[in-house]
Amino acid sequence: MSKTLFQKIADRELPAEIVYEDDRAVAFRDINPQAPTHVLVIPRKPITRPDEIGEEDEALVGHLFVVARKVAEQDGLTDYRLVMNNGAGAGQSVFHIHLHVLGGRALQWPPG
Ligand code: AMP
Repeated sequence: MSKTLFQKIADRELPAEIVYEDDRAVAFRDINPQAPTHVLVIPRKPITRPDEIGEEDEALVGHLFVVARKVAEQDGLTDYRLVMNNGAGAGQSVFHIHLHVLGGRALQWPPG
């Protein structure tokens, strides 16, 4: 199976500004930032979309939230938004799950 775009970033086959990595997850700055901090946290495991997350992935997905918190701390954020889109109709464009970490400006709710 061919690698996803984000697997290639995690494996450093494509460039990105990686801000955190460990054996299970990688975090890098979004190429088209929507806020002063816009980081994507991905699992190394290529799960296509949130509704493909299985019970065996519970700890891994929980880990993404811990990594997101570390990334936010690194950028000095106290208030920030975590978003994971499921499906094209909800805005998902890369089919390798990723947690958006958005902060550094006031964020509106609902997002629209
Ligand atoms: P989503 O629309 O939720 O699937 O989010 C995908 C995100 O990936 C978008 O915010 C894109 O700007 C971002 N993105 C796409 N290609 C790259 C890349 N090569 N490096 C970093 N971020 C990317």
